[in-house]
Amino acid sequence: MLAGPLEEPGEVRGARRFALPVGQLGPVAQNTLTDLFEDVSWGQLDYLVVDLPPGTGDVQLTVLQNLPVTGTVVVTTPQSVAVGDTRRGVQMFGEYRTNVLGVVENMSGFVCPSCGDRHEIFGEDGGRTLAESVDVPYLKSLPLDPAVRAGGDDGEPIVSDGDGEAAAAFRDLAAAVANKVGVLRRHHRQRKSEEAV
Ligand SMILES: [Zn+2]
Repeated sequence: MLAGPLEEPGEVRGARRFALPVGQLGPVAQNTLTDLFEDVSWGQLDYLVVDLPPGTGDVQLTVLQNLPVTGTVVVTTPQSVAVGDTRRGVQMFGEYRTNVLGVVENMSGFVCPSCGDRHEIFGEDGGRTLAESVDVPYLKSLPLDPAVRAGGDDGEPIVSDGDGEAAAAFRDLAAAVANKVGVLRRHHRQRKSEEAV
């Protein structure tokens, strides 16, 4: 998820208009997230990316209700069980009028170091199928590459110097998301200036 400087703080609070009864929220998850957002001095950010667990539970609701979300990037794996879960997520974002920037398929094919072939361990095309069925852009397939895990463990993300397929896929994804956020910002500024006239 992305939360950017699109909305004024007043609008952040305004989002509570859509709140469900408080009894349905996990208070601990809610407090932790809102504390992080409101009590941390984030400084001038280009983007604030919030990585959420899959599902449509308390954490996702808290973010949608309390943070100024610019847009969401929906990540799925290729198999149909995951696709079903993420489809429900997309529906929830729609209910909160949150822009879904697109769908990413993670663990999309494993390039095998032993035989050199590509093994579709988790199946194929789940991300593309999901994107088409909910009518949002398909952003990227991220291959299952052990180098991604190793780079993460070493604190040297693969995009920092890698030039293989996985690094290129992550870079393309980042560029696509930045582009879509840029378009949203332009629309937002346009709306503001029209309102000001
Ligand atoms: Zn193999």
